[in-house]
Amino acid sequence: MNASASISKLATTIAQIRAETIAARRAGVKIGLVPTMGALHEGHLSLVRASKAECGLTVVSIFVNPTQFGPNEDFSKYPRTLDNDLKLLAACGAEVAFAPEASEMYRSDRSTTVDVGEVAEPLEGEFRPGHFRGVATVVLKLFNIVQPDVAFFGQKDFQQVQVVRRMVADLNVSVDVRACPIVREPDGLAMSSRNRYLSPAARRRALVLSRSLKRADELVRQGQCDAAVILAEMRAVIETAEDARIDYIALVDPETFRPAETIAGPTLAALAVKIENTRLIDNCLLSPRAPIL
Ligand code: AMP
Repeated sequence: MNASASISKLATTIAQIRAETIAARRAGVKIGLVPTMGALHEGHLSLVRASKAECGLTVVSIFVNPTQFGPNEDFSKYPRTLDNDLKLLAACGAEVAFAPEASEMYRSDRSTTVDVGEVAEPLEGEFRPGHFRGVATVVLKLFNIVQPDVAFFGQKDFQQVQVVRRMVADLNVSVDVRACPIVREPDGLAMSSRNRYLSPAARRRALVLSRSLKRADELVRQGQCDAAVILAEMRAVIETAEDARIDYIALVDPETFRPAETIAGPTLAALAVKIENTRLIDNCLLSPRAPIL
């Protein structure tokens, strides 16, 4: 596609982005929002395309949100590639990018945060304390700033989607939340801005994440429904990478995130593993074999 065919506008202030969205709303144009932290890849662009298919104005926010990073996490080294991101967005036809500074998003005297409760507590919530408070707070702020009709998220961050859905339902936010499938590299690795931290050898070892999910899927398709058996097999696959450090490997109810003991209905297999100090997450939905009558 010719990148010059459509040029994305760049808004860096809340006043600028509001001017764009207010004009569109007055004209009756449906507004889609794709929240991102930038360092864009095909996973992000799939959300942009989903928005373009449904909305007349697609806003892509690019904001490395400091409040969702813990003190020992990678906030300062998180990749920031704004010029390239804007080129990718233009080629995809996103109409507006919103890339504010942290000082534009957060007043120094702020004191309100959003705590979503149970669904935000296990898995990512347990290993990244405060993470979902930062996510829910910034997503609600983006919803209030942009006032989109529809917001697009990736199932790569499955728990994040449920946290946002819970917040939208509980706080009567007038936004439709869409979840889009995980985009993977041809060898199975889920695309992530953090993949660029990996050395070529670690990049190969990182395939244990998707292989472990594939193994879980195979077992369930073969009729295995004992969660302990599946978890042990998933762990064995992960441990074939000698430096893998497991935060969690879990089989949970995809709505509540409570642990599943047997695979009796749709179940989320989710994992977070550090390879060469890079923390990677991945997941897949497992469906038990329909009973043979
Ligand atoms: P991030 O920039 O990592 O905060 O991601 C922004 C949005 O893109 C989130 O909704 C992610 O779930 C989504 N996303 C990231 N990676 C992928 C992927 N590989 N496939 C689909 N969506 C993704």
